[in-house]
Amino acid sequence: MRTIHFHRHGGPEVLEDHDLPDPVPGPGQVLVRLSAAALNHADLWVREGWPGLDLEMPHIPGSDGAGEIGALGEGVRNLQEGQRVVVNANLSCGECEWCLAGQDNLCRSWHLLGETVRGTYAEAVVVPARNVLPLPDGFDEHAAAAAALVFLTAWHSLITRGHLQAGETVLIVGASGGVNTAAIQVARLAGARVLVVGSTAEKLKLAESLGAQVTIDRSTHENWSKAAFEATARRGADVVVDNVGAGTMPLSLRAARKGGRILTVGNTGGPKYEIDNRFIFAKHLSIVGSTMGTLRDFATVMPLVFQGKLKAVVDRTYPLAQAAEAQVYLASGRQMGKITLAIR
Ligand code: ZN
Repeated sequence: MRTIHFHRHGGPEVLEDHDLPDPVPGPGQVLVRLSAAALNHADLWVREGWPGLDLEMPHIPGSDGAGEIGALGEGVRNLQEGQRVVVNANLSCGECEWCLAGQDNLCRSWHLLGETVRGTYAEAVVVPARNVLPLPDGFDEHAAAAAALVFLTAWHSLITRGHLQAGETVLIVGASGGVNTAAIQVARLAGARVLVVGSTAEKLKLAESLGAQVTIDRSTHENWSKAAFEATARRGADVVVDNVGAGTMPLSLRAARKGGRILTVGNTGGPKYEIDNRFIFAKHLSIVGSTMGTLRDFATVMPLVFQGKLKAVVDRTYPLAQAAEAQVYLASGRQMGKITLAIR
């Protein structure tokens, strides 16, 4: 099968376009012949590597994908060859205490497809059968691949962990990334009032088109937490979604109301920053971290995507052979929504 893979960590130049043998599905697994993959920031971090990351080389990046079932492993009975599916990148053991409790993203041997195991920048991938969901007839595979990880992540953070309620006010820091464009839609669907802080007028226009009711341009409002405070009748937001981290978290703590929740699933702006602890205790704040989501979250949120109630924003699509260019574009931060790869 054709793959984009790397033998050593580094910049986009380490990505090679070469064939590797087709993977073979083991018991309980399926092989998916991919037609679409989608990029995530994690792809860049995995390519660059970090201390302690020990990958079997060559490594194939990519967490998101959709295509059709090409082969069934032993014991798989609920799926058929040729069936179109979207892949859930969260790989869990299915046996540990957390998996048995339905909290499989806390699995003791949790892996993310494309991070520590070979991913979706390829014509085929093997995953456990429980990690695919059939696509409705006519549903676009790029739309499915682009939606999977970001809507799973946003749903788990806002709904499962954040307990977002109708009528609450949500401030989302960041307007145009995949998870944030998903979070805006999930928050609106939940009946929340949505405020978005973004870095350019163009990105805020996108946020508005997705349902943001108040937008704050941080290129003109350096102290955007004050603008958010004013926009909430000097009360503060019930929930602040901050997936930027460095550079924004101190202001996010300020923007939350007393007793508010700060939700974070990542740090596209960097992982380390100073926190003024007085905000946490004096304002009774809860900081709620999570990563990805559970099988149950996936089975809950993807039907909403299939029904068109939630929709991934796709910025552009590159052919698989141009995965390196696609990653450079992602790293530039100029994208509005998701970037996908056309595999066949
Ligand atoms: Zn487990």
